[in-house]
Amino acid sequence: MSTPIAFIQSTKLKAKPADETKLGFGSIFTDHMFVMDYVVGKGWINPRVEPFAPLLMDPSTIVLHYGQSVFEGLKAYRRADGGINLFRPELNFERINNSSRRLGIPELPVSQAMDGLYRLLEIEADWVPSAPGTSLYIRPFIIATEAHLGVKSSDTFKFMIILSPSGAYYAHGLDPVSIYIEDEFVRAVRGGTGFAKTAGNYAASILSQEIAHDKGYDQVLWLDGISMTYIEEVGSMNVFFVIDRKLVTPALNGSILPGITRRSVIELAKHWGMAVEERRLSIKELIEASEQGLVNEVFGSGTAAVISPVGKLAYEDRVFTYNDGEIGPISQKLYDTMTGIQYGELADELNWVKPLN
Ligand SMILES: *Cc1c(COP(=O)(O)O)cnc(C)c1O
Repeated sequence: MSTPIAFIQSTKLKAKPADETKLGFGSIFTDHMFVMDYVVGKGWINPRVEPFAPLLMDPSTIVLHYGQSVFEGLKAYRRADGGINLFRPELNFERINNSSRRLGIPELPVSQAMDGLYRLLEIEADWVPSAPGTSLYIRPFIIATEAHLGVKSSDTFKFMIILSPSGAYYAHGLDPVSIYIEDEFVRAVRGGTGFAKTAGNYAASILSQEIAHDKGYDQVLWLDGISMTYIEEVGSMNVFFVIDRKLVTPALNGSILPGITRRSVIELAKHWGMAVEERRLSIKELIEASEQGLVNEVFGSGTAAVISPVGKLAYEDRVFTYNDGEIGPISQKLYDTMTGIQYGELADELNWVKPLN
């Protein structure tokens, strides 16, 4: 039913990265990208894989001024048998449409967009690295492309998927990070765009991230934008606490990004029979539980790191240390299980993996 995907092959293929232990993140791109255009009245048209190349845009293009854009992030993992796994990719495409609705962007035809990703990955399969912990990062995104300075929804959009081989997130084991609790700025508010993966949320977070760095911390812990009382996220990850042996994470409330790793952590912990609570967690409750020694582990969750243990948390003039600043047993088990499933080393009991070949 869906339109066939055209393929315009690049005439100058790039050399693959020589040393997969030095890939880093987000600066190397493959030879091709997937593109589909939206034109009002016509819908999404012209699905194609074409050479990766810069875009030519009019300086008045809507996305450059008003940020009408959404994005996603997922990874392709090289299995030991040479095949490639994706992890719950359908959830990324559901989520990009939820984000798009909030930003006034037309929704994608999900199966056609996913076919575009599969076609692109088939063409670029050799770019999926195989060194331990490496992956091919997949960035689908939509931008408003109409040249127009008025504030309105664009009449034209581009949906694109670009691919970037990326290095192991943890080159030297899972080193816990230190977190600074942001009590001046917020990243999102109720009724705003917090649940959407959109450029503006990131723009709003950069200053705090820089202040945290200047103070010697790795990341920021965000409080809710209304009362600055409840815990929301950590950096650009969801956040979990092991409090008195229970796994606690802030309930989705519209200003928290519904992470696919978050959802998977919850499902996995429940599958193991752990008590999981999705609820409001105030900073006061966290501080009190920390003082009583009831907070066993703290970690962030997201596609890039999977699990990012938090060793140290600073609030006002106090600093709390968790699990002696080392990764805790639950964080480690979640990390090992999730990555084991992603790379096809462990049985996929919850049916999460989409093998591509
Ligand atoms: C993408 C993102 C996450 C994590 O989502 P995953 O689907 O687990 O990668 C968490 N918080 C924010 C703000 C994000 O943008």
